[in-house]
Order: sequence, then C-alpha cells, then structure tokens
Amino acid sequence: MVDAHSPNRLNQTQPTMDTLADLLEKNRNWATSVKAEDPSFFSELANQQTPQYLWIGCSDSRVPANQITGLAPGEVFVHRNVANVVAETDFNLLAVLQYAVDVLKVRHVIVCGHYGCGGVIAALENFRHGIIDNWLSGIRSLHRAHREELDALPPQAAADRLCELNVLAQARHVARTTIVEDAWARGQQISIHSWIYRLDNGIIKPLVPHIGKKLNDWNAQLD
Ligand SMILES: [Zn+2]
Repeated sequence: MVDAHSPNRLNQTQPTMDTLADLLEKNRNWATSVKAEDPSFFSELANQQTPQYLWIGCSDSRVPANQITGLAPGEVFVHRNVANVVAETDFNLLAVLQYAVDVLKVRHVIVCGHYGCGGVIAALENFRHGIIDNWLSGIRSLHRAHREELDALPPQAAADRLCELNVLAQARHVARTTIVEDAWARGQQISIHSWIYRLDNGIIKPLVPHIGKKLNDWNAQLD
C-alpha cells in the first residue's frame, strides 16, 4: 500500500512547479503535432543534421534563433552567449565554429545581436556587475575606440549604436579566425552576416552586405 504522505505519492498526484510538468506536457503536444504533419520528421532528423546556417547570438531569452527566423529543428546550428561575443580565446565558440564549418559545412554564419542588449549596456556603465565585466571587456574596448561618435549621441541612441558596432566587430572576429580563413583558402563557400534584431517589433535588420570571401573585400564595403 502506498503511503499517502510519501514523496512518491506527492509526485504522482500533485505535480508542483518543481517538476516543470507544464513544459513536459507542451513538449509531448509539440512532438505529437509535428509527427502528425510529417510522420518521418524525427526518424530522419535522428540520423543526421544538415543545417545551412550557424547562428551566433545573444543568450537573451527574447532572441531565440529558430523562432525568429522560422527555422525548424535541424536547420540552424546555434551558439549563444551574453552579447554575442566572438572571442578567439573562447574554446566553446571555436569548437562550435569549427564543427559547423569543417564538418557540417554550413554556408552562412550569422552574427545576430539585438538592440537593448543588457550585455552591451552593462559595458557602457561605470560600475561593477561581477564576472560578466571580464566577459564584456572587449565591448568596453569597442566603446573606448568609438567614444567620439558615441558621446555625440543621446544615451539611448549611443547604446543602440554600440549594439550595432558590437555585431560588426564580432562578425569581423569570425572572419579572422583561422577556421574561416582556412575554409576560404580551400575554396569553401561561407558567407558571414551581421544582423541586429529589434525587440519591440521582432524585425531583423542586416547591417552591411555579408562578408563573402575575404575580410579585406568586406572592409572596403564599409568605407
Ligand atoms: Zn543581449
């Protein structure tokens, strides 16, 4: 006989928020509806993934790569961190990039930032936030490098502009990695895109033409 007060009984009859039962139920409903539309969807996806895109975006919960681009599971390889930083010392990012380029052979690398990015705004502020300050040091350097342009703008516009400059800088960092340079040298077709997403209307804006071949070509387009 089951003790009415045992933890097991509680779990069976009174799911609490701790069990995340609502998420699991939504997951089952989603899987059922996808399978109803395409019975072989999961069995095919389980065998291989062939995404054309690598997404490097912000961890912000309001900027989910698949949803805002309408891409299905299997269509985009994703790396996210605070403020979509591409640091050449970040082995997590480099491992993702190398797998995407060398193994998956993605055709497009999309660096997508967003206006109102908390990480970028934190880099503009003059007080300590914790370990994140170390992560954001590159964005603070970017702020210093563009101080003249940014100081001439009202605070909101300056923050928005730094969000854009950050996307452009991180896309350049992607292009400068040995992974992408070597792929281009082999003749592999990879384009790097600099996009920014607006939280209040859900629209993505490309900032400049994509980097298609050599970084120098792209720098020329910026002049
Ligand atoms: Zn952000």
